[in-house]
Amino acid sequence: MDIPRYWRLKNQRYKLQGRRCIDCETLSFPPRIVCQKCKSRNTEPFQFRGQGTLYSFTIIFQASGKFENSAPYIVGLIDLEEGVRITAQLTDITADEVRIGMDLEMVTRQIYEDGPRGPILYGYKFRPHLIKPVAV
Ligand SMILES: [Zn+2]
Repeated sequence: MDIPRYWRLKNQRYKLQGRRCIDCETLSFPPRIVCQKCKSRNTEPFQFRGQGTLYSFTIIFQASGKFENSAPYIVGLIDLEEGVRITAQLTDITADEVRIGMDLEMVTRQIYEDGPRGPILYGYKFRPHLIKPVAV
């Protein structure tokens, strides 16, 4: 991806920003200018919290191009708490530890390095949501 395109997509990739239909309240991610449900163009930016549960996952053993160095990796289908299902790479977890239905949270991580002298691009990934023990 070229750098200008990266910056245009920054809010979407970095902050998990989608859109909300003002007419029927349907949420979209990736953001869609036209509402999928009622076809309204009356939509506004919507910030997802980045909390969800794992619906399904797949393990990628053979990656190509810029993702070559990161294989194997896990790609999850994640149900966000706002009710939208998205695809994202999982991080800080091994294949043995992944469980359907586990709680996940969004983090910003390196996606790939664009050549030895190129910029390192960042984007969202999801990791297990660690519930901190309550002090007694
Ligand atoms: Zn709508």
